[in-house]
Amino acid sequence: MEPKIQKSKDEWRQQLTPEQFHVTREHGTEQAFTGAYHDFKGEGVYECVCCRTPLFDSSAKYNSGTGWPSFWSPLNPENIAFKEDLSLFSRRTEVLCAVCEAHLGHVFPDGPPPTGERYCMNSAALNFKERAAEA
Ligand SMILES: [Zn+2]
Repeated sequence: MEPKIQKSKDEWRQQLTPEQFHVTREHGTEQAFTGAYHDFKGEGVYECVCCRTPLFDSSAKYNSGTGWPSFWSPLNPENIAFKEDLSLFSRRTEVLCAVCEAHLGHVFPDGPPPTGERYCMNSAALNFKERAAEA
């Protein structure tokens, strides 16, 4: 499937911080326990830092102890794309934004119930949007 938003590397470089660019456009991984959201407990939605597509809800976030923000489910599976990643001598499943193909992180089968999945994300790939207070 073709991503809906396609920009050149230079366009992304202008829009993003160097760390955001490295993670989302060069398939980087931020160092554990250094990101903005691994120990963050705000209520709201995590969007793609590149295109603002809603990806994860804080209600599916949990503390995996890994040092990266972890979720047991995406907000809307249609906003997420998967790709087999055979780097680092192991088989992992890469998680991408379905709209702009930003690299977000990986998903592992050792998460908590009810899904048993662990979406291990990079803070640098996400932008947190606080839930508006109930009127
Ligand atoms: Zn995106």
